[in-house]
Amino acid sequence: MNIPFIDLKKQYFSIKDEIDTAVSEAINSFSFVGGEFVNKFETEFAKYCNMEYCVGVGNGTDALFLAIKALDIGQGDEIITAANTFIGTSEAITRTGAKVKFADIDPETYNIDVRKIENSITPSTKAIMPVHLYGQPSDMDPIIEIAKYYNLKIISDACQSHGSFYKKIPISELADITCFSFYPGKNLGAYGDAGAIVTNNKEWALKARMLANHGRREKYNHEFEGFNSRMDNLQGAILNVKLQYLDDWNGIRQSKASLYNKLLTDVDEIITPVETKDVKSVYHLYVIRVKNQKRDFIRQYLKSNEIFTGIHYPVALPFTPAYKHLNYNKKDFPEAYRASGEILSLPMYPELGDESISFITEKIKDAIKN
Ligand SMILES: *Cc1c(COP(=O)(O)O)cnc(C)c1O
Repeated sequence: MNIPFIDLKKQYFSIKDEIDTAVSEAINSFSFVGGEFVNKFETEFAKYCNMEYCVGVGNGTDALFLAIKALDIGQGDEIITAANTFIGTSEAITRTGAKVKFADIDPETYNIDVRKIENSITPSTKAIMPVHLYGQPSDMDPIIEIAKYYNLKIISDACQSHGSFYKKIPISELADITCFSFYPGKNLGAYGDAGAIVTNNKEWALKARMLANHGRREKYNHEFEGFNSRMDNLQGAILNVKLQYLDDWNGIRQSKASLYNKLLTDVDEIITPVETKDVKSVYHLYVIRVKNQKRDFIRQYLKSNEIFTGIHYPVALPFTPAYKHLNYNKKDFPEAYRASGEILSLPMYPELGDESISFITEKIKDAIKN
């Protein structure tokens, strides 16, 4: 049995006719950048998020960048985000001229530790950027409370959590602006780069849209200098097809996670993902924690059995070479540091067979016995 970490081919073949039709229609519309399929997706995705406005953009990193710019945050300002995330989060902050302030993570959920946020607030802090990692929403109530008290904006990085809920509320409703990536491997994935911004604020939506399109509402009337970050019509057409399946796919991911949990209970060295009572995770990733320095051995053992895994992320962001100049110490982010040596992402996608999950968990148990 060869079990890849992700299998986009199986998903494509399950909806091939619809995708092929949509692609052909998009090409035959002869609008390539933006167009009717992007417009339709924006309407449908806003509805899906229970929000007023959706702006399709080039990718998730740009969505975060444009959201910060739309809120007029930049040079001289600071934004607080989680120490364990993808570099796109912090790149977006730095690119606006603002400064990234990392906060350590909660060792159970791997999301930002809400008790670490207030220590990082200075007079320059303008926003908190919670990252809903692995599909699991951050603990939003305390974040909202802190944001209100210190008059900060909340920009959510929901690039891994399309369709997730916090206390039964769709995650987008709990931030000023929420940003999504439709990178092919995400729960809702395009066939190339794409992203979106979702908000209830008309002005911010318009500002983000203009920023993403050379500072204009209409051709050659540039009201300010912007950028070029627009969604392709082809990606809009593909996303329209896939959006209809997102809830089903997320539901299947949740049942795959339950099966993993069941088969891995009582395995001494393994801690299965903790889904707090407040959230509905959409399991973009299924991340276990391996105690006693056995992570790399298990990963290797699985690989020798043709089971492919990932690590998200092998080096916590503050410790990557890109942030070497900030001179962080392990002790600054002890939980993020410890997690990076113990976490292991197992295969997780709706098309993953239950028999594959049994096989994977058997091999993990074998590895531990060895
Ligand atoms: C994927 C991802 C991004 C960036 O999205 P791109 O579309 O690849 O630019 C940002 N943050 C997180 C947490 C992500 O997983």
